[in-house]
Amino acid sequence: MTSAPNLSRLRHFVQQLAALLALQPDEPAILAQGAALLAELVAHDDWLPDDYAQPHPQYYQQFLLHADSLARFSVVSFVWGPGQTTPIHDHTVWGLIGMLRGAEHAQPYAKNEAGHWAPSGDAVTLLPGQVEAVSPRVGDVHRVSNAFADKTSISIHVYGANIGAVQRHVYLEDGTIKNFVSGYTNPNLPNIWNLA
Ligand code: FE
Repeated sequence: MTSAPNLSRLRHFVQQLAALLALQPDEPAILAQGAALLAELVAHDDWLPDDYAQPHPQYYQQFLLHADSLARFSVVSFVWGPGQTTPIHDHTVWGLIGMLRGAEHAQPYAKNEAGHWAPSGDAVTLLPGQVEAVSPRVGDVHRVSNAFADKTSISIHVYGANIGAVQRHVYLEDGTIKNFVSGYTNPNLPNIWNLA
C-alpha cells in the first residue's frame, strides 16, 4: 500500500447509516437515503484497504468491512476476479450495491409459469459511483457477474442484517432451491460475526 487509506469515508458512511437506522425508517426510506449515502462512499476510490481488494483466482471474495453491533446492517467488499459470477441467489433482507471499481452485470430473475427461475428483464450494468437495491419487496433474486473478462471489479454491498450469517437460497435453473449461508472471506480476523 503506497499511502494510508482514507478510512474516514467508510467511518462517515457507517455513522450516517447507523444514525438513519436509529430513526427506524421504513424500507423505502432506508433504500432511498441509504443509496444516497452509499453513492457518496463509492464516489471516491481512494479508501478501500488493499487487503480487502484482493481477488481470488477461483472465487469471488466477500470481505466484511463493518458489522453493526446490533446486527442492523453489515458492509462488505465484493471482489470479482476476471469473469467471475455468482449463482442465482436471494438475500432475504434489503441490500444496496455500490460500484467502486470496474463494472458488474446484475441479471434479475423471476419464477416462470413452469416454476423455473428465468431471467426477467434486462441485466443492469453498474458503473463506478452507481448504486442498485435489492430486497424481497423490490426484487431479491439475481445473478451478478464481473463485467470484465480481464480485470478485477469491486463493489461495496450493504445489507440490513449480518449478511454472512443469514440463511438464504441459491436457485438452480431446473427449479431446485438450495439453502446457503455465505459467511465472510476475511481469513485473519477474530470475526465474531462469521457464525449465526
Ligand atoms: Fe446478490
